[in-house]
Amino acid sequence: MDRLRSALAQIDGCGYKAYKSLKGSYLFNEFKLTIDHVQGDPYAAPSRVSIIVSSDIAGFPVHLWETDTRKVALEDFLGRAVKRAIGQYVKGHRGIGKSGDVAIETGGQQILERNAILLSSEGVEIRFTVGLPARGRKILAREAEEMFFRELPRVVHDSLLCRNLPTDEISRHVESAEDQTFLRNWLSEENLVAFIADNSFLPRRSGIDDRPLGASALPFQTPNTLSRSVTLPNAGPIRGMGIPVGVTLIVGGGFHGKSTLLHALERGVYNHVPNDGRERVVTDPTAVKIRAEDGRVINDVNISPFIDNLPFGRNTHHFTTENASGSTSQAANIIEALEYGARLLLIDEDTSATNFMIRDERMQALVAKDKEPITPFLHSVQELYHKYGVSSVIVMGGTGDYFEVSDNVIMMDAYVPHDVTQEALQLARPPRLRLKTTTLPVIMSGATRRPTLEALNASRGHRETQIDAQGTHCLIYGEHEIDLTRIEQLVDVAQTRAIGLLILYYAKHYHRAFPNMIDGIKHALKDIEQRSLDILSPYRIGTLALPRAHEVAAAINRIRSDS
Ligand code: ADP
Ligand code: MG
Repeated sequence: MDRLRSALAQIDGCGYKAYKSLKGSYLFNEFKLTIDHVQGDPYAAPSRVSIIVSSDIAGFPVHLWETDTRKVALEDFLGRAVKRAIGQYVKGHRGIGKSGDVAIETGGQQILERNAILLSSEGVEIRFTVGLPARGRKILAREAEEMFFRELPRVVHDSLLCRNLPTDEISRHVESAEDQTFLRNWLSEENLVAFIADNSFLPRRSGIDDRPLGASALPFQTPNTLSRSVTLPNAGPIRGMGIPVGVTLIVGGGFHGKSTLLHALERGVYNHVPNDGRERVVTDPTAVKIRAEDGRVINDVNISPFIDNLPFGRNTHHFTTENASGSTSQAANIIEALEYGARLLLIDEDTSATNFMIRDERMQALVAKDKEPITPFLHSVQELYHKYGVSSVIVMGGTGDYFEVSDNVIMMDAYVPHDVTQEALQLARPPRLRLKTTTLPVIMSGATRRPTLEALNASRGHRETQIDAQGTHCLIYGEHEIDLTRIEQLVDVAQTRAIGLLILYYAKHYHRAFPNMIDGIKHALKDIEQRSLDILSPYRIGTLALPRAHEVAAAINRIRSDS
């Protein structure tokens, strides 16, 4: 402590580079502070600092973090507490550039495994950034002293010591996450692919704001015929709507809440914070949102089960394009989801290619089969379930064609779901002659795709590697700028960063060993599970969050060979 104080006194007014001498560890009363990396100038990325509070001082009882789910939830809670305390105690801007800023990465509405806060038997460690203050290029040591000796100790004291935190809130956070994980595991025992508890709040504030809509939201009400009850380990008995395996159709008038329901299901692969409204909405963890994505790149994907006989005899068993159409992109998205091992596909008419989803009799009569390369999803959706156990939830308000192939039909009426399966069945026409000659087996067994090592080269110009997320949906990877705009289940920029580093890790460690890319990615994720996110970076950073294998693969699948 005194050492840091005198070191600061010595460099006061010196050129900015003198800050470099601070690198190292310092003992404070309640914690150890380590300056891991010092920024080169006041405008550069801020300095990386970490703090460890030993377990006897932090005092978190073991039962609060003894399982993986509880540990991730408690870390999540503490990250948010640290962030709040920073807002309260850190003055912020002190000089030029990023001078005076202190920042920690925390999540939005989801609870993700991250490396900004780490609990262990030794204690709790936080990683954050500090803009070391300067005026002109001269060190403002007094200001730095304020930050290290007044602000940070208060932040730590208020947010990392169990006795100073609201224990009831911590328990609620941890227990809620545990209930969610329980619920998600319970789904498969019950032959369900999703569950939405009564009184959940599904609508969000806006298309770009993931927080709950608030007082005007109508709480979810379960139709009796789809009602399921379950007893949660912490919250006790609850009731809600179970969506069974098979094909489920969601119908209803425009603006009646169909897409809102589907969006909630997309996010149900993650745990949510208490009061989100979706903390009892869970989905099969392998669920993948499938949409059209025209313009995307497709690298050697066998889309022939859906699309064949392209004009001029183009091969769809190894389909490659820099500029996919709506239907070819949606087909590729399905095949890639199946490679990943998705057991549930989520599809919304709003974001689908019509010609991929349906083709009615009159169009069949007009355009002969040999002139139409697309076998609509309508003709595969039942087979996908019966042969391969892959369920679908499809939002389709504009046509009754899916009545014939749906096991359950839910109608959204002014945000209230009704089971209209019987009515829909009566309206369904007798199964007509199927057009298709199915080649589904090919996709299931032939998943031996992997990118070339060259495509995974992360170097750029004179730099050995350049990997960076520019927002959640843009990943810079070497020379490539990967567009993830339409990867809707990617929720956090920290996941995007981790994906970039994971691609590099996969290329280094598992590309060669596995002819199948997804197997290699899954091995990389297993390494993280056994060790930690830290294996991805040689530096101590706190800016990563865990993605699913699917989103990692999605990024690799969108690398363009021409960029
Ligand atoms: P659809 O897909 O059926 O056309 P949306 O799901 O897009 O309808 O919902 C239409 C609007 O209704 C959206 O603005 C959404 O936020 C709102 N909304 C959806 N569900 C609810 C609800 N339970 N309570 C209040 N508003 C809702
Ligand atoms: Mg809609």
